[in-house]
Amino acid sequence: MAEMPVERLIRQIEAEMDQLNQSVRQLKDQVETLTQENNRLRMQQYEAIETITLTEGPIGPTDSQARNPFPSNASSTEELKGKARLQSFYDEGIHVCHPYFGTKRDPHEACIFCQDILDSLGESS
Ligand SMILES: [Zn+2]
Repeated sequence: MAEMPVERLIRQIEAEMDQLNQSVRQLKDQVETLTQENNRLRMQQYEAIETITLTEGPIGPTDSQARNPFPSNASSTEELKGKARLQSFYDEGIHVCHPYFGTKRDPHEACIFCQDILDSLGESS
């Protein structure tokens, strides 16, 4: 028995919807990947800026800073800045821990690896 035109049309639309669904899934995957890449790059950028600031000093190296790029009185401040930065990434829902660095974190779930890092940075002697 010959297929009715409307049945063929429905089958065609179903196939197109499947295709569309697959495209949406692929796009979502790509967005996820790009977001993670972006997070990693942002964190690396902050790190690079901090390294430059640490090495050269915010205004320009004084004599003591030129001799010692990591003066003891400044390092605790820098450490706190680093912690604040990591904390803000973590609060944004991004992993700052080594196993999941830069990946999206479920905001409702705490990550013990991230917490560990943040705790260790928070302890100032
Ligand atoms: Zn984590």
